Amino acid sequence: MRVLLVEDDEHVADALTAAMRQFGHDILTAPTAAEALTKLEGCELVLLDLGLPDLDGVEVCKRIRARSAVPVIVLTARADEIDKVLGLQAGADDYVVKPYSVHELRARMEAVLRRTCRCGLGSHDNAPCTAERRDVINVGPLSLDLRSRSVTLSGEPLQLTRKEFELLAMLVEEPDTLHTREDIISRVWDENWFGSTRTLDVHIGTLRRKLGSYDWIETQRGVGFRLGSPSTT
Ligand code: CA
Repeated sequence: MRVLLVEDDEHVADALTAAMRQFGHDILTAPTAAEALTKLEGCELVLLDLGLPDLDGVEVCKRIRARSAVPVIVLTARADEIDKVLGLQAGADDYVVKPYSVHELRARMEAVLRRTCRCGLGSHDNAPCTAERRDVINVGPLSLDLRSRSVTLSGEPLQLTRKEFELLAMLVEEPDTLHTREDIISRVWDENWFGSTRTLDVHIGTLRRKLGSYDWIETQRGVGFRLGSPSTT
């Protein structure tokens, strides 16, 4: 995938470039907003640092959006900016607050691409190609808001940890897919994570408890997990 990284901090840019190349992405960099706007064409995803020397990040985001529907993930240390960039006006697709791990960023990138309709690739259901990305996914009484990262069950908020949310979002976003243990671990944790896979079972267990039913998550013994359908739905 061709990624445009807009970041003025050379160290951050170098580190991210190396990581993205390792993940097999073709990465272009731009240290200023002005340069970024000239490099948009052909890019499939933009990683945008909000603190740029020449233009306010929210404004950059708006200008990108004015020219292109390319997914934009904002990288920011400024939590107070998030509402503005995710608002309709600026139109970012997601954000990652610094400090973040490259694996977290990668997971966000994949999630954004899955949610962003690209001519049938990664589209859900029978949504038309021009569909907005889905912010909220409903499965029976369960509702996940991918933007605010909140979950409700029959209207009652569920308090999930970050990992539990990622895990549930992964299952809910691709309800027909049997996710292997390795796939879940590499996406929710870290692909270089060689710890005990018991951590995954523990999280699945807690998630099932919080969801109030074992049946929300179907186990394929020795293989992995997929979204289940509890009898209450
Ligand atoms: Ca910066």
